[in-house]
Amino acid sequence: YAELESFDPDIAGVLLSELGRIRGGLQLIASENLSSPRVLTALGSTLSNKYAEGYPGRRYYGGCAEVDKAENLAIERCKELFGADHANVQPHSGASANQAVYGAFMKPGETILAMSLPHGGHLTHGTKVSFSGKWFNAVHYGVDQETEDINYAQMEELAREHRPKVICAGGSAIPRLIDFERIRALADEVGAIFWVDAAHFIGLVAGKAIPSPVPYADVVSFTTHKVLRGPRSGAIVCTAEHAAAIDKAVFPMMQGGPQMHTIAAKAVNFKECATPEYAAYAKQVVENAAVLATSLAEHGIRPTTGGTDTHLSLHDLQGVGVTGKDAEARADAAGIVLNKNAIPFDPAPPSVASGIRVGTPCVTTQGMGTEEMRTIARLIATAVTKGDADPDNAVTREVRAEVTDLVTRFPAYPR
Ligand code: PLP
Repeated sequence: YAELESFDPDIAGVLLSELGRIRGGLQLIASENLSSPRVLTALGSTLSNKYAEGYPGRRYYGGCAEVDKAENLAIERCKELFGADHANVQPHSGASANQAVYGAFMKPGETILAMSLPHGGHLTHGTKVSFSGKWFNAVHYGVDQETEDINYAQMEELAREHRPKVICAGGSAIPRLIDFERIRALADEVGAIFWVDAAHFIGLVAGKAIPSPVPYADVVSFTTHKVLRGPRSGAIVCTAEHAAAIDKAVFPMMQGGPQMHTIAAKAVNFKECATPEYAAYAKQVVENAAVLATSLAEHGIRPTTGGTDTHLSLHDLQGVGVTGKDAEARADAAGIVLNKNAIPFDPAPPSVASGIRVGTPCVTTQGMGTEEMRTIARLIATAVTKGDADPDNAVTREVRAEVTDLVTRFPAYPR
């Protein structure tokens, strides 16, 4: 660091102030986590230099003996962790992993059935602004208006009507468990590939805190940086039947050289995820999320679906008369980082939104438990309903002082 600081104080300053930002506030973005220094060490290593197009033992470059070891370890650990036949650890991100799934199973113009973005899906599940919606015919199911959980009856109806090539389950704002068995039966009935985009919840699966999609799905794509707590990247596991198609779709169809430093960091992360400490962490993430959701409800901030089974909850702010946009800005001013989020059947445009999404991966990594979740709920409710986006607002300052006390007691990256 000292050398970077003397050569490039601008970037060195950004690194330090970002660490200060992480340490100084409550990080409640559901898709973020705090990777271990071990993972960060692998990420910042000389493996970043190496070109290694191809797969271990079958490279298009010389000098790959060492990086082959790293990729083989990542593959074996990933397979073991999820009980999967096959793993591809090369995707650069969740979106790249998803692109490879399309590449493996679909031709342009073919139909995919997936969760709609405004109801909790992801951009790469067939939205018009993404390659997935531009190149493929996307049909979307949503949530049931009453339960606010996945509308399986609608999914089944649409599958029978459109006969999709692929049925996708998973998304970015789904607080409840997904009925993989039911979707497997549907995929078999209509002759579709069953793809689970487990980006958000795969860490809970790794820690055995929630059921796994792996025994049911043909293919499971995921990011490695959310609850899983690895480097910012992606991966895919699938059945032996689809192994060759997935590998060809990742390279050479969608990507060039793999990022070997990131693959080494994924290997470290998969090893971490196989420990009892990580399993305890995953269970605590779920318990914390449930308490945070219930406590926010007690402050009048209603969780959609009535709560959560996972690491995140989605809250409807209409009852307290605040928009998602204002809530995000007010919380931010108080040192609480969360995001505005559309709620199902949201009357407001996405740029304003009627909800917020909160997640517990980061604060649980910092060692916080259910008691702290009750405090956090009170702080969010106070900042959002009585505070302001102006950091000098008296209420906002009071909340920020309590946030500072909390993050001092539970530091991120303790010194
Ligand atoms: N799939 C889901 C369900 C996600 O939530 C995300 C990211 O939030 C992605 C895919 C894309 O991952 P990335 O941002 O790594 O491309």
